Amino acid sequence: MEEENSGRLRLVLVPFPYQGHISPMLQLGAALHCKGFPITIAHTICNSPNPQNHPDFSFLPLQDGLSPRDFKSRGLSDNLLSINDNCKESLQQSLLQLIKEEKEMQANEMIGCIISDEHMYFAEDVANNLKLPSIIFRTTNAATSLARPCLLKLTEGGQVPLQGSVSHELVPGLPPLRYNDLPFPLTENLRGFAVVVAKTYGSSRKCSAVVLNTINCLEQSTLDQIRQEARVPTFAIGPLHIMTPGISSGLIKEERSCLSWLDKQPLNSVIYVSGSGSIASLSDKEVTEIAWGLANCKQAFLWVIRPGSVHGLDWNEVLPKGFRDAVGDKGCIVRWAPQKEVLAHPAVGGFWSHCGWNSTIESMAEGVPMICRPCFGDQRVNARYVSHVWGVGLVLEEMKREEIERVVRRLMLDDEGKEMRERAKEWKHKIEASTRKGGSSYDSLNELANFITSL
Ligand code: UDP
Repeated sequence: MEEENSGRLRLVLVPFPYQGHISPMLQLGAALHCKGFPITIAHTICNSPNPQNHPDFSFLPLQDGLSPRDFKSRGLSDNLLSINDNCKESLQQSLLQLIKEEKEMQANEMIGCIISDEHMYFAEDVANNLKLPSIIFRTTNAATSLARPCLLKLTEGGQVPLQGSVSHELVPGLPPLRYNDLPFPLTENLRGFAVVVAKTYGSSRKCSAVVLNTINCLEQSTLDQIRQEARVPTFAIGPLHIMTPGISSGLIKEERSCLSWLDKQPLNSVIYVSGSGSIASLSDKEVTEIAWGLANCKQAFLWVIRPGSVHGLDWNEVLPKGFRDAVGDKGCIVRWAPQKEVLAHPAVGGFWSHCGWNSTIESMAEGVPMICRPCFGDQRVNARYVSHVWGVGLVLEEMKREEIERVVRRLMLDDEGKEMRERAKEWKHKIEASTRKGGSSYDSLNELANFITSL
């Protein structure tokens, strides 16, 4: 993408400090940098991105008031509330200083806009205080944007418990979502959830636009509905990892040796298993069932067991006795994989995923069909769309070895799985087309750049 904007409007980007949020925000930064905008990443000290990987950006650390140990041990929603309480003053003071310096140096550059993750709502307050325009970046899909406020109403009205519903009935106004597909948070703290939803989706927000890392072709009718109801423009510019390839934003070291293991496997023969993404966790019992399910189905597998995702332990401490001998060379286990390269590898024929939104679009962009085992939040919404709307995935209903063996075989060996793989390839081509000149995401990114310049 060539530089198209010669204006010196600096954009301040504020990511939420979790992997699934930092990556798309840095990708968005790279996409807008290509349009000529200088980029500053205002980040918490906990879980900060590595500035050395992004020499084109400048970085502004925010005093988050959290020790790394607190950050790790507390839940996501507690961290979210603390960060929003603690970082506001730090961002405001840093930006005031930046504005002062710009004036003193009569720099040919000024802060044009603050773009913040939807969860970093303090940044919008700062933008309002400093009379700067602000834009919300949602790292979920469009369907979740509609489902979250609806879920809040249902939980506040006592119609569904916050811990999750088991009802398979359709939610009125949200097809194809059923009550059990709603994006229940990983918290039983209704106040915390209510604050987040009100701040993230409420009418009190004063943003100038909303940006989504989704694609028109996947969510046309939902995006139409959002655009009809929204009072500000909505830009769908995903998948950002395709729009800006090669952006490295991993917080955990990748074990690249799995790529040479994949090189030795036949076409479409490997099931890639990453069942907990960067946040969710698994119990011992679940790991044991996955292990024997994979061993028994006799399919080659590449399995990511993130450090700490099972009671804070490493993978070699959690696998059942006898499992390694039972699978031999058929299995490769790593702590963290170069996921996008793994999904693009011809040997990978299926992806068992927790259905985080990044993983979902990374898989669809490579034409890889999925086994969906969502854990919490938007993962349930994504799993429903993958399986019932886009037709590229099977849902694993029970974490039992017999069921795992059956579902892996259905996806990897049966005609049903072959059809899904073909359909996934069709989506891959449509998604690719969206990111090329004349495609919806390509155009939408240009419109966003023009919109920011016009603010
Ligand atoms: N990821 C990775 N290597 C792994 C597992 C995950 O690089 O072994 C990346 C993956 O490519 C994705 C991100 O981590 O970009 C996870 O984001 P997602 O939205 O899928 O899930 P979350 O972390 O939010 O649960």
